[in-house]
Amino acid sequence: MSIEKVEELAKRRGFFWPSAEIYQQVAGFWNYGPLGTALKRKIIDAWRSHIVKRDDMVEIDGAQIMPMHVFKSSGHLSSFQDPLVECKKCKKIFRADKLIQDKTGKIVPEAMKPEEFDKLIKENKIKCPCGSEFSSTEMFNLMLKTFIGPKQDEVLYMRPETCQSIFIDFPLVYRVSRSKLPIGIAQVGKSFRNEISPRNAIFRTREFTQAEVEVFFNPKKEDDFEKYKEIKDYKIRFALLGKEDDIKEMSCEEALNKKIFRSKIEAYYLSLHLQFFERIGIPRELTRLREIGPEEKPFYAKSAWDLEVKTSLGWTEIIANHYRTDHDLRSHSEGSETDLSVMDGNEKILPWVWEDSMGVDRLLLALLDVGLRDDSKRMFLKLSKEISPYQLAVFPLVNKDGLNEKAREVFDMLKDKFDVFFDESGSIGRRYARQDEIGTPFCVTIDYDTMKDGTVTVRFRDDMNQKRIKIQELERICPLYSG
Ligand SMILES: [Zn+2]
Repeated sequence: MSIEKVEELAKRRGFFWPSAEIYQQVAGFWNYGPLGTALKRKIIDAWRSHIVKRDDMVEIDGAQIMPMHVFKSSGHLSSFQDPLVECKKCKKIFRADKLIQDKTGKIVPEAMKPEEFDKLIKENKIKCPCGSEFSSTEMFNLMLKTFIGPKQDEVLYMRPETCQSIFIDFPLVYRVSRSKLPIGIAQVGKSFRNEISPRNAIFRTREFTQAEVEVFFNPKKEDDFEKYKEIKDYKIRFALLGKEDDIKEMSCEEALNKKIFRSKIEAYYLSLHLQFFERIGIPRELTRLREIGPEEKPFYAKSAWDLEVKTSLGWTEIIANHYRTDHDLRSHSEGSETDLSVMDGNEKILPWVWEDSMGVDRLLLALLDVGLRDDSKRMFLKLSKEISPYQLAVFPLVNKDGLNEKAREVFDMLKDKFDVFFDESGSIGRRYARQDEIGTPFCVTIDYDTMKDGTVTVRFRDDMNQKRIKIQELERICPLYSG
């Protein structure tokens, strides 16, 4: 499906739409409607269950606005920036690295100097679509600033990622959770980036939700990791460096033996996240694990992987994964002059970190894109029952002769246990169509036979088959049906 179609459906049915549309809206900010809010919450709940709970992680909820010093230590102040060029004539602004990448098809290293961008733009004769030349490259910081105090004279920053509070709070969280290394600390929350060109609906935005995991471990014991056994035979679709188009399927064990994975910790957490994708309904063949090469990965990362999903935008990054060493804890220890090391048994150490950083909005968009089917006869949204905003809908066939009251009764009986939608108006065909489009796995219709023998019609989203069952069986059968 195309992103335009997904966006059209999202607005028409109430998943998401641009923020402040009745005023002069600003690109890159979106509001979630009732269905989008429910879907997003369920994606996060499934992630909590599959990652946080399964791995005995703890979760925190940090402030979104933080002082400048945090980002001085983390390196964001000096290096979280994009190279920009401006057209001398039409004044349009572009990212220099993207221009070069689009023209040459080669990945441009992150850490290049402005003069190097200028040189490549000149060498490849890159010009603005309007035909004019560009100004020299300038580096532009991606953080959003804000101000506090009566004179608004103190500068603070909106966090550009959720993980910094996890690093800063690490010794405190480690102590209060009475845990041992390795320990995973998770956080879900908003982050903010001053994106130059927000695009593709909620894929690239200026305000977004992340679900991040930072696993702290003793580097001397990284392969002394029992949980690895649970996933060692799990097969992953690898897109290795330089061979991205030739996807190789390999078990974790094989990848570890071939030194494609550098540790059991890495294999375990990447597998867990891929299994999470499968759990919420992304087919395996639409996933791949892309190796990030030395030119693309951050300098402190020993290895980096993108977990990608194939959408109508092509292969898109949903989770960025980094083997971060002790870079973060060391930088904040030095920057704050506070010792962030902890005890691991009798040993005092600064743990290393494995990170999985997921874009929740991107994942939601990918699920809609992958799930939306349009087969000329009808449109339907194939969402798994765990995350579909409603698990079932209840309708009276007609709005008279007591059918409506009976349908309400059934609705009331089910709504404590399931997310149920009640709809009494319009033709039954239209009511089915509406539920198909929002991903409701099945619908229950109360008709004249219900009044006689207590049975209802159950109709399935994916194949449109219908079945008659007794009302008393609904509660037991719903979880099985809503697959
Ligand atoms: Zn121009």
